[in-house]
Amino acid sequence: MSSLSGLTVLAGPTAVGKGTVSTYIRDNYPQVWLSVSATTRPPRPGEQEGVHYFFKSAEEFDRLAEEGEFLEWAVVHGVNRYGTLRSTVEAALADGKHVLLEIDLQGARQVKASVPDARFVFLAPPSWDEMVRRLVGRGTESPEEQQRRLETAKLELAAEPEFDHTVVNDDVQRAADELVQLMGLTPNPR
Ligand code: 5GP
Repeated sequence: MSSLSGLTVLAGPTAVGKGTVSTYIRDNYPQVWLSVSATTRPPRPGEQEGVHYFFKSAEEFDRLAEEGEFLEWAVVHGVNRYGTLRSTVEAALADGKHVLLEIDLQGARQVKASVPDARFVFLAPPSWDEMVRRLVGRGTESPEEQQRRLETAKLELAAEPEFDHTVVNDDVQRAADELVQLMGLTPNPR
């Protein structure tokens, strides 16, 4: 068994609420360590270095990739690079944490190739219309970017059978509780 086999990967289409569900878990389940990815995307208002992402220049990101520091990395939505730093995941697992990676589908496939005995969970929207409504409603992307993300989402939805489990994000707390249960934890009492 790989030293990384205890980890859980959460993937799913854009705007399905992966970020919201994982933030809920980070805030409510201290036993879980939510992996902090490196990215070339500039920070959004309120995002902090080392909390939400490690913000890297393109040059720094390339250097880390060349040096084999990433467990996986991918260009997401055709623009920025995002990657999981192997060392941070190993340290959290060695520390006895349940590790959760919130990554895109390309990244999930890379992890599946290198850590096949990890746990792979697909977060699905209650419906396509609801997913579009959430993407447009959150207002963080331009209309062109929204369109691009929806194109990606169509491909991503078709990947559901590649995963061990599907959790439907009909309600953030319920979905988060179901996910931690799949990770072998007892959900917090409501
Ligand atoms: P955002 O720019 O909205 O924070 O994230 C965009 C997308 O990048 C999300 O779908 C998220 O799952 C994905 N992502 C975040 N971190 C990583 C990572 O380390 N690796 C991969 N492959 N995707 C990531």
